[in-house]
Amino acid sequence: MSRFWSPIVHSLTPYVPGEQPKLANLIKLNTNESPYGPSPAALAAIRAAADDTLRLYPDPGSDRLRAAIAQAHEVEMEQVFIGNGSDEVLAHTFQALLQHDAPLLTPDITYSFYPVYCGLYGIAHEPVPLDEAMRVDVDAYRRPCGGIVLPNPNAPTGIALGLHEIATLLRAHPERVVVIDEAYVDFGADTAIGLVRQYPNLLVVRTLSKSHGLAGLRVGYAIGQPDLIEALNRVKDSFNSYPLDRLAQAGAEAAIADREWLARTTGKIIETRSGLVSSLKNLGFEVLPSQANFVFARHPDRDAAALAAALRERSIIVRHFRTPRIAEWLRITVGTDEDCRSLADALKAILNRNA
Ligand code: PMP
Repeated sequence: MSRFWSPIVHSLTPYVPGEQPKLANLIKLNTNESPYGPSPAALAAIRAAADDTLRLYPDPGSDRLRAAIAQAHEVEMEQVFIGNGSDEVLAHTFQALLQHDAPLLTPDITYSFYPVYCGLYGIAHEPVPLDEAMRVDVDAYRRPCGGIVLPNPNAPTGIALGLHEIATLLRAHPERVVVIDEAYVDFGADTAIGLVRQYPNLLVVRTLSKSHGLAGLRVGYAIGQPDLIEALNRVKDSFNSYPLDRLAQAGAEAAIADREWLARTTGKIIETRSGLVSSLKNLGFEVLPSQANFVFARHPDRDAAALAAALRERSIIVRHFRTPRIAEWLRITVGTDEDCRSLADALKAILNRNA
């Protein structure tokens, strides 16, 4: 607390990021990174871009990258907005596209950055409870709102909505922007990008951090009708910021173009996920049906924080949230088959030890 702080900073509850440990030899299953890393073509493009052209400013419009994204998703370039990770895209979205005459609706259990942005930008927020099965209840969103932000699949549950449910939301609020955060969509859910043509109020937000294995490069983007993209550009330009540096633009362009790598690595993660779900169930865990690169699981009679701590002693890091309704749950990133076997072995030993 300081007398120099603005009222907004005083009232802000900052986001608590997942731990990025400095230790080596950890099995890191806590922040949903890809165990396979980026496409080799992306690495080659980044290396090739690391030359004396770095003395020049990057292209402020990331035109080549936007063209590659537009091509990959069969939209126009004017429908693509680029940011430093989808967190930045979301930050600009919160400023540019939410109305202030009614609260923003998000699920009560969701990506915990959303309430932080609301606090930062003075936007009222109304969390909408998940149903008994921890699913997003679309009918509960039929109430006045300044906009809706929804990850699909949701995080940290991993449960995805179908496109017909998203279309229901879009039709329920034709005058409000509905943001579908597709950070995890490549692991089995359906993308809403195809709905953009029909629904001018839809903005789809994407990241290269998860399925493209590029969390370290910081690239995210949004797709919507040009009108929404124009609002995002106005906010971005008001920061006078370059969205991406030269290396990120080059690497992201190559990553987007390498669809084979994306299909192969996401396919492998989906396959490993089903093995992980089976082994957790065999150990007595309840596991939600995930369409993401993580699973959300709880043991009926073990304390989740204690389990996370015991795993940590064995150099395996998973994510535990203290939020009341999910304090019994662990979110576990799908790593390699070997990572998941080590996790299952460690859990077995921990459960037996305390039996
Ligand atoms: N949306 C969701 C639902 C996420 O879980 C994350 C990652 N924590 C992000 C957006 C942000 O990802 P990035 O900024 O790395 O693109």
